[in-house]
Amino acid sequence: MASQETEPQKSLKRITWQYENCLSCVWFQPNDPLNADLFERGKCIHKDLKRFELLVSGRDWCNLHTEIRQRQIDNIQEKAMKG
Ligand code: SF4
Repeated sequence: MASQETEPQKSLKRITWQYENCLSCVWFQPNDPLNADLFERGKCIHKDLKRFELLVSGRDWCNLHTEIRQRQIDNIQEKAMKG
């Protein structure tokens, strides 16, 4: 019965998104900044990682994550709109 399941078993049935992902990271450079979502691909430009030329997606993650601010997102999108 469902009520007898342990907490890890219950958690496996839920879809959860990690909060600290590349999409919310200041070092993520999405291919399409205007339409970027969790499936968006892009580069990681963190100073210690860019030499690896990583292709990451919005739902990837690493322990160098630094949360991006809304103002920074606005700036990136304004620049993209100007082409
Ligand atoms: S790989 Fe790490 S540092 Fe690079 S964008 Fe993703 S979370 Fe940020």
